[in-house]
Formats: sequence, structure tokens, C-alpha cells
Amino acid sequence: AVKDSGRNGVSFFHSDMEERSLERILLENELKKAIQYEQFRIDYQPKLDLATGKVTGMEALVRWDHPELGRIAPNKFIPIAEETGLIIPLGEWVLRRGCEQNKHWQDQGYPPLKVSVNLSARQFYQPDLLDMISRILKDTGLEPQWLELEVTESIFADIDNAAAILQEIRNLGVHTSIDDFGTGYSSFSYIKNLPIDTLKIDASFIRDIHRNKESHAIVKAILTIAQTLNLSVIAEGVEIPEQLAVLNEDGCGHGQGFLFSKPLSSQDFENYLKDLPITT
Ligand code: C2E
Ligand code: MG
Ligand code: MG
Ligand code: MG
Repeated sequence: AVKDSGRNGVSFFHSDMEERSLERILLENELKKAIQYEQFRIDYQPKLDLATGKVTGMEALVRWDHPELGRIAPNKFIPIAEETGLIIPLGEWVLRRGCEQNKHWQDQGYPPLKVSVNLSARQFYQPDLLDMISRILKDTGLEPQWLELEVTESIFADIDNAAAILQEIRNLGVHTSIDDFGTGYSSFSYIKNLPIDTLKIDASFIRDIHRNKESHAIVKAILTIAQTLNLSVIAEGVEIPEQLAVLNEDGCGHGQGFLFSKPLSSQDFENYLKDLPITT
């Protein structure tokens, strides 16, 4: 009996593992094809100045609609792309497309906006990162101040290198922000001397900011630090007016979230721009 249950236990565990790695292998292969055949799209989510309500930029978020498997969430395929290195060609594609699209909107006469593109740690540490960014800016004609790169705190694992690379990005005239701020290696001492422009407060603190003292205290601490270090701040994941009210009261500069708009296809984002009230 012991032997049987042992065997069952092992075989159950085994098939579960097999299934997971099969899904993994499948996705990995599909991802390779998807990159080759450019099966990706980008959605754009507006970022707003909370004091004026004006749109100041948009985050480029990659989308993968697989012909048979349907929509696959970034949280599912980005980690695989990172582990396999496929994030290098994929990330380059997103950056190029995002810059191209932003330049196109500027050329059409919409108010100039900053496009934010997520950069994974693996991309960040590529030796040709700076060349790639410069080349894309040159090819697309987008001026560097209209590009922002979002990096996560994971790059701080190698703080000296991170600081040097961030400085080189700044020298290009491109902006940087720390995404999901507060969830990783974010000892405040790390950001003290880093050449970055913006802290992006993680959605987990915004979620209950209106009813949880601790979350609110963390957000206020981030705002104070940002002010002292002369960094701008954006709150991500703003979903309801109660959260916005607290952020406004605290003087948080910018916001992004479903309350303002979901991520939109490029066509819908363009319509969104068309529908904006004309202000000066
Ligand atoms: P992120 O960079 O922190 O992006 C914000 C995520 O929050 C997006 O999820 C966005 O759709 C979602 N979001 C925005 N507003 C709200 C809100 O009010 N409520 C809630 N619940 N969610 C909101 P998405 O598009 O699924 O992307 C997930 C993550 O995948 C991103 O998190 C980013 O880490 C990664 N990602 C997406 N596109 C790229 C890319 O092109 N390159 C890389 N390296 N990573 C990407
Ligand atoms: Mg981001
Ligand atoms: Mg984020
Ligand atoms: Mg994230």
C-alpha cells in the first residue's frame, strides 16, 4: 500500500511537471514563431497630469493574440521571453514600433506626448543597448525627450553598472522611470544618486490607499523622497475616484489606470486623442 501510494504520488507529481514543461515548451516555440512573424501588437495606456487632467504620455504594452491559443497575457509570456533571451528581439520590436507610432502621432499634429517603453533587466544589460536606442531614435526621427524607458528595481542588483548605464541613457536625452516602485530592492539609498527621472508607485500601494493607513503612509513617504530628490512621481493602477482623491490631496503629480483609461489599441488611442477637450 505504501509502495502504491508512493508510486501514485510520484507519478502524479511527475505528470504535473511534465504538463507544465510541455506548456512551457509549447509557449517557447510559439513565441519564437510569433517574433519571426511579428504576431504582436501594442496597446497604449494614457498617463495624466493629475493637477490639470491633461494627457502627458502613454505606456506601450505589448499584446500577443495567438491564432489558436487566443490572448496570452504579458505576465505569462514576458517571463519566458526573458529566460530564453527572446525578450531581446521582442523588446527591440516594441521600442521601434512605439517610437515610430509616437512620431507618427506628432507628425499628424497631436500634442507631443512621451511614450514609455518597458525595458527588462536582460535588455538593460545588453552591451549594445545604447546603440540600439540611438539607432531606433535616428531611424524613427523621434526626439529623445519624447521617449521614456521603464526599468524595474531588479536592475539594482548590480548598482554600479546600473548607475553608469542610466547615466548613458540620460546623456542620450531619454527619460527613465522605475516601474513597480516599492516592491523590489527599493531601499531609498539606492535611488539617492541614481540618474533617473520618475518613480512609478506600484499598483499594490494604490489599490487600498483610500482605506489602508500603511499603504497611504508608504505613498506619502515616496512622494516626500521624490520631492527631495527632484523626481517626478506617477501612481499606477488608479481605478476609482476615492484613490484619485487621496492622490490629489497628497500632491501626486501623475496617474495611470483604468479610472482614466484602459490600455487602448493604436486606433482607439488615436480616437481618444481626437476626443480630448481642446485646452491650452
Ligand atoms: P507594468 O509595466 O507595470 O504595466 C502595467 C500593467 O498594469 C499593465 O498590464 C496594465 O494593463 C495594467 N493596468 C493598468 N492600469 C490598471 C488598473 O487600473 N488596474 C489594474 N488591475 N491593472 C492596470 P499588462 O499590459 O498585462 O502588462 C503586465 C506587465 O508585463 C507589465 O507591467 C510589464 O512588466 C510587462 N510588459 C508589458 N509589455 C511589455 C514590454 O513591451 N516589454 C517588457 N519587458 N515588459 C512588458
Ligand atoms: Mg511599465
Ligand atoms: Mg508597473
Ligand atoms: Mg509590473
